[in-house]
Amino acid sequence: MKVKLDHIAIAVKSINDSIKLFESLGLKFDDHREEVVSQKVKTAFCKIDEFSKIELLEATSKESTIQKFIDKKGEGIHHLCFRVASVRELQTKLSQKGMNFIYEEPFIGAGNCLVNFIHPKSANGILIEISEKLK
Ligand code: ZN
Repeated sequence: MKVKLDHIAIAVKSINDSIKLFESLGLKFDDHREEVVSQKVKTAFCKIDEFSKIELLEATSKESTIQKFIDKKGEGIHHLCFRVASVRELQTKLSQKGMNFIYEEPFIGAGNCLVNFIHPKSANGILIEISEKLK
């Protein structure tokens, strides 16, 4: 399986306000909002092409990592996500090379995907999500 860019995630204060910006560019967001309870975030997706998306992330609690990100850096690009064949296999391989992951174990993220995040310190300062679509 070829690795693809799945989405670019942007931390925003308000999904509804941010959507207006992207819709003014001619993009169309899904009406569906998904809450990832474990991450204390609400998400909205917009297709860019047949595969890649923009994901808007809004905190649902002050304890959310998205709220902490916005408090520290302001709104902006939060992470890139790549679709891979197997999150667990890739995590094992990269960990053996000394790369650090945010979570010890992958977890279920938005859209029924198994995900984990490579620590920015191991990835040129970029938070990278790796994602595997579950059946
Ligand atoms: Zn993501």
